[in-house]
Amino acid sequence: MACGLLSSSDKKASELEVLVGNAMEQIVEGTVQVPDWLPQDSIDRKRELMGQFDPTKHKGFVKLVARYTDGDGGYLLRRQTANAVELMVDSAKKDGVILQVRSATRNFDRQAQIWGAKWRGERTLSNGVNLGNASMSDSAKARMILLYSSMPGTSRHHWGTDIDFNAFENSYFEQGEGLAEYNWLKQNAAHFGFYQPYTSKASGRTGYEEERWHWSYRPLSLKLTELYKAEVKYADIKGFDGAEIAPKVSAIEAYVLGLNEELIP
Ligand SMILES: [Zn+2]
Repeated sequence: MACGLLSSSDKKASELEVLVGNAMEQIVEGTVQVPDWLPQDSIDRKRELMGQFDPTKHKGFVKLVARYTDGDGGYLLRRQTANAVELMVDSAKKDGVILQVRSATRNFDRQAQIWGAKWRGERTLSNGVNLGNASMSDSAKARMILLYSSMPGTSRHHWGTDIDFNAFENSYFEQGEGLAEYNWLKQNAAHFGFYQPYTSKASGRTGYEEERWHWSYRPLSLKLTELYKAEVKYADIKGFDGAEIAPKVSAIEAYVLGLNEELIP
């Protein structure tokens, strides 16, 4: 190459480099960075995204100290979420606002018990409807449960980042103590990393009804949402009554991703 020209074999090699280079760029663009607090193995990671693990045996999860809860000492969260909850609840207390965690991590098996009991009519829905004696299509049944409850494998409560505070009715947060608690959260929760995923649907948000009690630790849950969107497919959603309805009701697009836009990656 004394005269500055490439030999034909060198030329082929450099063309190949360009092709491979482009292909690699495309792969990198489509890949979500995996943080060190999640499994690097994609199968293990999908299990975590879908709640298919035992949080009592997971090294990254801790029990919330009972005084931050309704008295139940068994609530589990990812360590970072638990630290942030404790800081926030302490801060609220200084302002005269009492926040009590009433639900935290629920894994796939627990969610499958809740979903199955509602599907079979062993448990009444929060609006008083019992699906055991209802004659409706499976997708109508699923949509009824989905007003407030997730399909197993699609719940943010699988992640160790999401909690429910104080009461499970929006009306509780509309007056008196409940209103003061909600106003405090709206003003201060973001400072501790917490956001309400299921806000009013007036602005066009899809999915679950508003839940003023449900708050999510964004520093972790944003990444989990991003990975869920990239890695979980409808074929993965299985193993409970009505699972085959998931694509028909757009369980991923409308529900998993039907969020307050501050929580959309
Ligand atoms: Zn919740």
